[in-house]
Amino acid sequence: MSETSPLENMLAQMSAARPYADIDDGVFERLKHPERTLKVTLPIHRDDGSIEVYEGYRCQFDSARGPYKGGVRYHQSVTREEVEALAGWMTWKTALMDLPYGGAKGGVVVDTRDLSDREIEHLTRRYTEGIRRMIGPAMDVPAPDINTGPQEMAWMMDTYSMYEGYVVPDVVTGKPLSIGGTAGRVEATGRGVAITADHAFEYFERDLTEATIAIQGFGNVGSVTARLLDERGADIVAVSDITGGVYNADGLDTGALEAHLESTGGVAGFEGGRSIDNDDLLRLDVDVLCPAALENAITVDVAEELRADLVLEAANGPTTVAADEVLRERDVPVVPDILTNAGGVIVSYLEWVQNSQQYSWDLEGVNADLERRISTAFEETIEAFAERETPDLRTAAYAVALERVGDAHGVRGLFP
Ligand code: GLU
Repeated sequence: MSETSPLENMLAQMSAARPYADIDDGVFERLKHPERTLKVTLPIHRDDGSIEVYEGYRCQFDSARGPYKGGVRYHQSVTREEVEALAGWMTWKTALMDLPYGGAKGGVVVDTRDLSDREIEHLTRRYTEGIRRMIGPAMDVPAPDINTGPQEMAWMMDTYSMYEGYVVPDVVTGKPLSIGGTAGRVEATGRGVAITADHAFEYFERDLTEATIAIQGFGNVGSVTARLLDERGADIVAVSDITGGVYNADGLDTGALEAHLESTGGVAGFEGGRSIDNDDLLRLDVDVLCPAALENAITVDVAEELRADLVLEAANGPTTVAADEVLRERDVPVVPDILTNAGGVIVSYLEWVQNSQQYSWDLEGVNADLERRISTAFEETIEAFAERETPDLRTAAYAVALERVGDAHGVRGLFP
């Protein structure tokens, strides 16, 4: 079976949910196409004085429900189509969470390991200049994604504010606390994954404290997920990142692993387990496989051979459409990305709200709001799955999201 690109996967997921959603045919057709994608050319001075030219994108997929919202990714594999797929997933994610947002995504084609901090700052500022006419607190609000975090958001906020002539904190979310970031944002995506795991285990009548878990990816999302699931009593038996993987059948010490990452920059060489490659990690005999890296991690080959009882999608788009079909046939449930990893954008929303009110909430308030919203979305997904008899949880989640976006288009009507 041939594998499909992230954009093809996203469109196929939409089409699979079409029969289960009450949505106008014309509106559905409209939603297959992003509103716009801007490509920007980004020249910067390298530290040696030479000029290097990078490429970046910002896709605004849909804005029927509110301002566009979505992260900015720095990765060598970024393409226009990938950014468009990710912007589509943001649209379905914000709708499923019932946030007053549309969906967007940005990306720069760059391997940040080749750049110094100064070069990353210049690239970030140049990218912000490139897209600044299309972003703004009421227009499009970027946030962190792979290889971007609070520091990049600070540079984006500063660059945008310099052009405006006054401070505009709510132009991006995921900022450092000192300039309007919110308590709980750095951990938010991983916390959402852990809360989703709680609900999934309850739903499938399994005990999370007895579970073994393999996590592909140990960046912001994977590492927080590992720590929080470890705290719940589960055994994180394997993790991997771009440097390699580690496995320990008795469970890894996630605190020591985070310390190792801090000092060496990667998972490889961690002494609390034996080394394992990524292909083996995906096929381990565990209770939960949690892909927390890039798209298309679970292909047909992996789906046919994986031995997990449950797939918890912390990454965006980690399972191809064909692999989804195999998992369905094998009765391996998949808790879909637009539900599982929505904690990040939920807390981004809370940051944006706090900025617009010039007010800040404490961590307890933020985490309680995050838990309430993602739990409601989980219940709504399960309800749609049962009532509409969708083939899987992803289709149920999409049916809910598609209807919400479709309703917004319906009541707004067509301009002119
Ligand atoms: N990049 C994150 C995601 O894929 C967060 C986006 C946001 O906070 O706007 O959901």
